[in-house]
Amino acid sequence: MNYFNDNTLVYLNGEWLPAASAQVTLYNQTMHYGNGIFEGIRSYKTPGGVKIFKAKEHYERFIKSAELMYIPVYHTVEEFTDITYQLLEKNNMGDAYIRPLLFLDPNMSLVPVEKSNLFMCAWEWGKYLGSGLLRIGISKFERPNPKSCHIEAKAVGHYTNSILASTEAKRRGYDEALLLDSSGHIAEGPGANFFYEKNGVLYTCPLGNILPGITRNTIIELAKENDIEVIVKLSTPDEVKTADSAFFTGTAAEVAGIQSLDDYIFPMDWDKSIGRALQQKYSERVLV
Ligand code: PMP
Repeated sequence: MNYFNDNTLVYLNGEWLPAASAQVTLYNQTMHYGNGIFEGIRSYKTPGGVKIFKAKEHYERFIKSAELMYIPVYHTVEEFTDITYQLLEKNNMGDAYIRPLLFLDPNMSLVPVEKSNLFMCAWEWGKYLGSGLLRIGISKFERPNPKSCHIEAKAVGHYTNSILASTEAKRRGYDEALLLDSSGHIAEGPGANFFYEKNGVLYTCPLGNILPGITRNTIIELAKENDIEVIVKLSTPDEVKTADSAFFTGTAAEVAGIQSLDDYIFPMDWDKSIGRALQQKYSERVLV
């Protein structure tokens, strides 16, 4: 996958640079120890022009993640949003995936670093998990224990857990992993939150062991608007293996239907599921 071409401009600490000439020092703490934070945001070409979906929510989470990880932030939500619109305009992009990253200056000690650097780029990215129904497997890796990190922060280093889980699931022939929390309850996918449907009710797990997904919130909102009951509770894999249907949600994945979990096949026709109906509502909502 090519993330840029000769014409791509990226933002680095106040400058607009061709992607290939943007440089960083190899002594930066983010590369060595994984302390950095990022966001994954989408923009859509809407009838009213190019719009960043839930920019405020994404940049509020970005700032929150930074605070939790002791990373200095030099911009407000409005300034981040403004830079993002400039990025889209300079690259003549409409439907795009936007990646802001705050990475740290050189420091080889295990202490907070006084200065952070803002990098922002965008590329065109199809649905992260594709558009077919997914065969997923319960991972042998758990989500990081929230007593060992700020799991609600979108921190760079947390994604080694996601890479391990996704890779291990794919090596066993699945399309994606589903991770449990450290008490054995269903938590989330490596880059997406998880919902299941049973007897006309939607279930998802509470915050505490997951990234608080912005798409998760949108789906809960859309369900409520459409009189669909959502129950937020911890569930075991055995419970999920009696469900009618299931799906992942995330900015990159949007709403991705799931065919099976381990050897359990969700019996409901995806086209008749709540997930499918909300997938449609979501694709309309991002264009508003
Ligand atoms: N969980 C994890 C671990 C993720 O990386 C993501 C993607 N950011 C999500 C959930 C979904 O979050 P959102 O809907 O805000 O993109």
